[in-house]
Amino acid sequence: MNISRKLVELFLGLLLSIGWLVGGWAQVLDVAIPVPLIAQDKTLRVSDHVYVILDNDARFVPNVGIVVGERATLVIDTGLGLPNGEIVLGETNKVSKNDELYIVSTHYHSEHDLGAEAFPPSAVMIRSRDQQQDLDEFRLSHAERFSRMSTVMAELLEGADFRQADVYFDNQYTLDLGGVTVRMYAVGPAHTRGDTVFFVEEDGVLFSGDIAMRRYPRFSSPSSSARVWRESLKTLMEIDYFSDIEIVVPSHGPMGGDAVIRGYDEFFATLQSRVGELKSQGRSADEVAGLLIRELESQYQDWPSEGAERIGDAARIVFNETP
Ligand SMILES: [Zn+2]
Repeated sequence: MNISRKLVELFLGLLLSIGWLVGGWAQVLDVAIPVPLIAQDKTLRVSDHVYVILDNDARFVPNVGIVVGERATLVIDTGLGLPNGEIVLGETNKVSKNDELYIVSTHYHSEHDLGAEAFPPSAVMIRSRDQQQDLDEFRLSHAERFSRMSTVMAELLEGADFRQADVYFDNQYTLDLGGVTVRMYAVGPAHTRGDTVFFVEEDGVLFSGDIAMRRYPRFSSPSSSARVWRESLKTLMEIDYFSDIEIVVPSHGPMGGDAVIRGYDEFFATLQSRVGELKSQGRSADEVAGLLIRELESQYQDWPSEGAERIGDAARIVFNETP
């Protein structure tokens, strides 16, 4: 972490403490959280059929994918609430004239899923059954938590609700958009139960959701499993098309090549082996978590450090899964 960022964080921390003291903490948090809006007029063409709107490392903003075929268009992640969904729809209309629209989410969290209602009623929402199970179980609890963070977040999420799925699939689904094919895979429970990844076959582009990024993994569901997470990464790497992947677009952070997937698998491999060693020395879960936060943070200095506490959570989950 560089010094100026550290200073900004200290300053924000101080602001927050003052905010708590004088009350009105939501207004103070408004200062700390920039308005999470998806960028307009910044849509990038990354391959013949694929466009991406990058998150520019903004919090509560996803990387959005738009896949344009000869007949139909698929949108991957619609942003936090209706105002963001409208931006994504506007950007989609700039690069696609297709009336036939499909929508998917990498997972049910608010900044990925709650812009979908801004799309016309004719748009077709596709979900894995696992993702639907997340919706049924957690409903809008994630959005309610976000809304409590600031008035801006609450305004963005006002009136937002999950879009009803028109198509469900179990493990795999193939969507033909005309001249371009998107293969969808349910790969949870990892970040969530309903994690889904999307491979644009003709273009070699993989949308990896929160399953593989250049930031620490967040286990955000009681059903999350480090074992399943790594198995999913292995499955992705073993599928025939893996050698055809040219671009990996994670849900958050910068794009990369297949090294994004390999790098995540290595992270989990390191975590599993270090937890195994430390556990066999008789150390407690808390000790292991504390040690590995320091160890892995220094090993992964190019990943954003504000998520370092996630290493501890991940270490505890691996600890419980280690015999
Ligand atoms: Zn998420």
